[in-house]
Amino acid sequence: MTTLESPAVDVVRNPADGTELAQVPRTSPDEVAALAARLRAAQPAWEALGVEGRAEWLARWRDWLTEHQAQLIDLVQQETGKAFGDAASEPAYGGMVVQYWIDHAAEHLADEHPASTIPTQRLIIQHRPFPLVGVITPWNWPITMPLLDIPAALMAGSAVLSKPSELTPLSWGEAVRGWQEIGAPDVLGIATGGGETGAAVVDQVDMVQFTGSVRTGRAVAVRAAERLIPCGLELGGKDPMIVLADADLERAANAAVWGSCVNAGQGCSAVERIYVEAPAYDEFVRRAVEVTESLRLGTDRTAPLTVDVGAMSSEAQLRIVERHVADAVAAGARVLVGGSRAEGPGWYYRPTVIVDVTPDMDVMSEETFGPVVAIQRVADVDEALRLSNESAFGLCGSVWTGDRERGIALASQVEVGAICVNDACVTNFQLDLPSGGWKDSGIGARFGGAGGIRKYTRARAVLSTLAEPATEPHWYPFGPPAS
Ligand code: NAD
Repeated sequence: MTTLESPAVDVVRNPADGTELAQVPRTSPDEVAALAARLRAAQPAWEALGVEGRAEWLARWRDWLTEHQAQLIDLVQQETGKAFGDAASEPAYGGMVVQYWIDHAAEHLADEHPASTIPTQRLIIQHRPFPLVGVITPWNWPITMPLLDIPAALMAGSAVLSKPSELTPLSWGEAVRGWQEIGAPDVLGIATGGGETGAAVVDQVDMVQFTGSVRTGRAVAVRAAERLIPCGLELGGKDPMIVLADADLERAANAAVWGSCVNAGQGCSAVERIYVEAPAYDEFVRRAVEVTESLRLGTDRTAPLTVDVGAMSSEAQLRIVERHVADAVAAGARVLVGGSRAEGPGWYYRPTVIVDVTPDMDVMSEETFGPVVAIQRVADVDEALRLSNESAFGLCGSVWTGDRERGIALASQVEVGAICVNDACVTNFQLDLPSGGWKDSGIGARFGGAGGIRKYTRARAVLSTLAEPATEPHWYPFGPPAS
């Protein structure tokens, strides 16, 4: 256990049993300013390395992350309480993103040469980095979240000031230590602490990339507007799953349970509400109950892959899930499996299937972020589509049908930034696809080609002459064109 003496600390606990793991100092606004100045000082040399030089450091970091995978996964499990199966993907997925930008940065950052409408002028578009980018992240994927954004910013030539969640700063702190251990330039820093530290980061950087709740995202956007800096926002969701009567119900039910309970339901792209066409409803519910009953809840830190669902990462989040389910039951919903926190130590919520839900219940309208499979019967596809779109959120979703073309046509009407047909929660793993929310779920997107890296840059328009006469027709003196 690490114990630091500063009184301004966040206590990090293991959600599996509530034990204290560490006390982590809160970086003060003055310290954030000093850190920002240090990173800024190192940025010009980083940019001057060029794409290839920067890629070499990113590749070494990728290798470090791979070599230290076991230790990182263990730290993630300790500070989040995740099942091994959920934690295991974090460093590997992050490494995949690093590799994507190593492979693709050059093509998107290269100068462009649009054709000129005036034959005596040559045009160039340059993409120059924001010197300092802030990356503020939540607790649900402590390594993955920063790694979804930071590699693109670093490859763009920016320095990065990261701020992980105060609930889970340890594993990301270790990844940043890895950057230092390989001897990379001093362009990746970490500030620890909660909202005050996050706000201080927004106050220092030239562009901020934020992942977290709608509420905090809005506060970040307001501050960014005051400072006239751009922000990217990846926010919450209430992702709908539409199951049509002709769907493969075994596959759909398996996906529904996995998509609702993966990472103990604490995923922005998790399945949050399910609409099933009436003819398929009973069979779908029966299958979902069967799968949910079979899930193993607990911790498997010392015996990997022996549980399916881990702990909730905070007691506050566990209480939100309890409230959503209790309120729904009070309003007439029925719990078929689970429906309560597990007995014993730790912050565990039992995987739950809840039915007879209605759109006005929080469990069908607010982000639940817990292992809850919430299923509503709908008359037909039109009702499913209407309910899906009657939401302030617009992050991800899925459509299930035996007719793939019909599925794509239906998916095209769902107001979300990413949607699967006959699959769930996997668009984020295809890095050529943009990942970003519509409506309250965000502004901008990560990955997906040029947009995913150019957002860390400013375009500069350069115009050069190809001929230099003594004067130009539009210069002084004004008068009729010479005949
Ligand atoms: P949160 O908004 O409470 O906190 C996110 C981060 O913001 C934390 O690091 C926090 O310390 C910091 N912060 C708090 N106040 C701040 C302020 N005023 N200025 C700057 N930073 C501040 O979110 P959370 O509870 O940590 O995370 C859960 C949320 O994240 C869920 O809504 C989830 O859907 C969302 N999320 C979205 C995505 C996505 O890609 N769209 C991915 C993962 C999680």
